[in-house]
Amino acid sequence: MSVHNNFIAGEWIGSADQIANINPSDTKDIIGEYAQANRDQVEQAIEAAHIAAPDWERSGIQQRFECLDVIGSEVLARKQELGTLLSREEGKTLAEGIGEVTRAGQIFKFFAGETLRNAGELLPSVRPGLSVEISREAVGPLAIITPWNFPIAIPAWKIAPALAFGNTVVFKPAELTPGSAWALCDIIARSGVPEGVFNLVMGRGAEIGAPLLNDRRIRAVSFTGSTQTGRIVAEACSARNARFQLEMGGKNPLIVLNDCDLENAVNCAVNGAYFSTGQRCTASSRLIVEASVHDAFVAALVRKMDGLVIGDALADGTDIGPVADQSQLNKNLEYIEIGKQEGAELLTGGDVVERDKPGFYQKPALFIESDNAMRINQEEVFGPVASVIKVADLDEALHCANDTQFGLSAGICTSSLRSAARFKQESQAGMVMVNAPTAGVDYHVPFGGTKGSSFGPREQGGYARDFYTTVKTAYTQA
Ligand code: NAD
Repeated sequence: MSVHNNFIAGEWIGSADQIANINPSDTKDIIGEYAQANRDQVEQAIEAAHIAAPDWERSGIQQRFECLDVIGSEVLARKQELGTLLSREEGKTLAEGIGEVTRAGQIFKFFAGETLRNAGELLPSVRPGLSVEISREAVGPLAIITPWNFPIAIPAWKIAPALAFGNTVVFKPAELTPGSAWALCDIIARSGVPEGVFNLVMGRGAEIGAPLLNDRRIRAVSFTGSTQTGRIVAEACSARNARFQLEMGGKNPLIVLNDCDLENAVNCAVNGAYFSTGQRCTASSRLIVEASVHDAFVAALVRKMDGLVIGDALADGTDIGPVADQSQLNKNLEYIEIGKQEGAELLTGGDVVERDKPGFYQKPALFIESDNAMRINQEEVFGPVASVIKVADLDEALHCANDTQFGLSAGICTSSLRSAARFKQESQAGMVMVNAPTAGVDYHVPFGGTKGSSFGPREQGGYARDFYTTVKTAYTQA
């Protein structure tokens, strides 16, 4: 069995502790063994990033452009192979896996270009003879901590801007999906990035999270994951005045009005709620439906759900792959029980299903007769579980959509320009979609939410610069 090591100060470093990367479509299939970094190795990675930081920041934009461009090209050239690895370890369908890898490659290409567009400002001073220059500098060594559900795209959208703007990186991917992270690291390691600029430490968050978060040499932390872990990151960084950025959970609403194109609304709901097995922070887990279209929408949605093929992520024709692991499956089942106890009606799905190979297969679940105050509508499940909330009109729909601790993404299906305009204005989410699924975003525009979903500057696109640079104001007397 091949062992995949950590990458520290330009060297591949082994560890006594290794974990097996298991395919959730076939738990007998072990993808590989992955070394788990210990605290000393985290310390070495931080020191390497610290030492490499000044030279990397001064390295020049052409070198950084070329490194990112080379990384993007290799990721794109290998999208079939890397997409297969991703789907094999995470469980999203092959089309989704290849799509995610493509996205990662595009992100590196985009930020290659951003290295050349890091413009400053030149202003006259209010004092005669002085001029003022405003420029952007690297923040310093960064920690990047990522979840398992987008194991290559999320690392890409943090690592690419970090390197583009001259920061060095210690990258800690999720325990569950080290394969895509390791493959990306292998590409970065061969891209011409100097020793120590990029370091990979795989390992358990509970063990190696603290040394990363508490080290004064780490000047900023970009984190995506659960709300609970986000709080730990926030507390540790606040305590030592380090910069941090958090992308966390969601409980995203999709409003369906009676003037919608019903077929499109059903497609948006199926895509948003169940694709990628519902394991997306932007998943539409609350379907808020106007009473006059409720029955027709639910009937059409159930018909569509009946036709979904649940199976091996890599098999032709699979619409929904397995749940990522046993603990996530247990959590989904627990929430289905909670929903029933709260009085919602489980109309279809939710049950565990068997396939030829042993895996974590679950039928997408749909609740009706649910109330927005129920736990299944207030807490993130992170699985193929959605519920319908019946409302009288747009007023009630908007109130319900915003009545949540989260604010990542929200959608509406309507043919009314007026309703769409009102929704875009009154929704409290960071990303709003009209007649499109709540999940699925472009890579060149800002990504992020409000309230309990996000903290700090937006990720992706030109806005990413705000987190990965610090502003300097320079006064010069002529
Ligand atoms: P998680 O919080 O369990 O883990 C995320 C990362 O944090 C992992 O790398 C983990 O090892 C690390 N970690 C765990 N404990 C730590 C600690 N004490 N210190 C430092 N790091 C620690 O989340 P997950 O289960 O991997 O991912 C699912 C969650 O991610 C969901 O809540 C989902 O909504 C969220 N998510 C959010 C976005 C977004 O952009 N808003 C995108 C994808 C996923």
